[in-house]
Amino acid sequence: PIVVFGSVNIDVCAYSDRLPRPGETVHGTGYAMGLGGKGANQAAASARLGGSVEMVGRTGGDAFGEMARSRLAGFGVRTDHLSTDPAHPTGIAVIGVESSGENCITVIGGANMAVSEQDVAQAAPLFADASVLLLQLEIPLAAGLAAASAVRAGGGRIILDPAPAPHGGLTADIFRAVDAMTPNETETESLVGLRPTTADEAAAAAERLAERGLSIAIVKMGAKGVYFRGPERQGFIPPFPVTAVDTVAAGDCFNGGLAFALARGDDLAGAVRFAAACGALATTRAGAADSAPTLAEVAALLG
Ligand code: ADP
Repeated sequence: PIVVFGSVNIDVCAYSDRLPRPGETVHGTGYAMGLGGKGANQAAASARLGGSVEMVGRTGGDAFGEMARSRLAGFGVRTDHLSTDPAHPTGIAVIGVESSGENCITVIGGANMAVSEQDVAQAAPLFADASVLLLQLEIPLAAGLAAASAVRAGGGRIILDPAPAPHGGLTADIFRAVDAMTPNETETESLVGLRPTTADEAAAAAERLAERGLSIAIVKMGAKGVYFRGPERQGFIPPFPVTAVDTVAAGDCFNGGLAFALARGDDLAGAVRFAAACGALATTRAGAADSAPTLAEVAALLG
């Protein structure tokens, strides 16, 4: 299966004509609660495409934990190894959105921050059996590295989304512990000190990532497309033409699609193109996990 080891949140979005200033109360126009957290978003995106997906991580022993679990199941994600941690609250993001599209977000990691190597030990057969492991940086890195070594020992591939951008970059061992990284512009800058805005700049950044020992570098540049560099091939995939309304979780839908395509045997270039179509479609819909496209929608865009 595709195994996602990462964060699970509930996103609470409050919509208003304008965001409140400090000390101010505004009347909102509505609210929504959805599944979020980079881990859960990537799991939901892979499962909606039809992938066989297991989510490993922690929720709290509260109502949001139950909600997250049932939303994941609704996408077809298996949650047998998603544990309930009664000592912490379920992770949440409290998101204010004003009609201009501007937002402000407070994330409370909660149970996600308590994830540890123990969660890997408890699901050892699952990690050994993974075809693809999806990691992000919203759980402690030591836990992610333990999962990476278990998956590598079993012959699976490891994709690390270095998001949110790590302050001070990542240590050298991490570039060798994973097969691929998928930084966006900001994350690329925090890893190699270059903020790419063109295919040539992305190629230069990918070269620096390769010099640090990374096998596959995939540089995501939003509406400017995506550049990939693997051991045998490299190339640029121009953006698919879509009308973007909400770019939340575009990167997560990209990674969910990348894992799905690699797990079914696509080569790197084909998998990156498939993933770029997933990311583009995600921008056409509101929400985090809820913006993930189906296989039929991706096939239609790929033509
Ligand atoms: P993140 O959400 O991590 O910042 P990006 O914004 O780079 O990631 O989006 C991930 C991928 O989704 C992009 O590399 C691209 O393939 C696709 N994508 C994102 N925004 C657009 C857009 N406006 N038009 C077309 N494709 C997009």
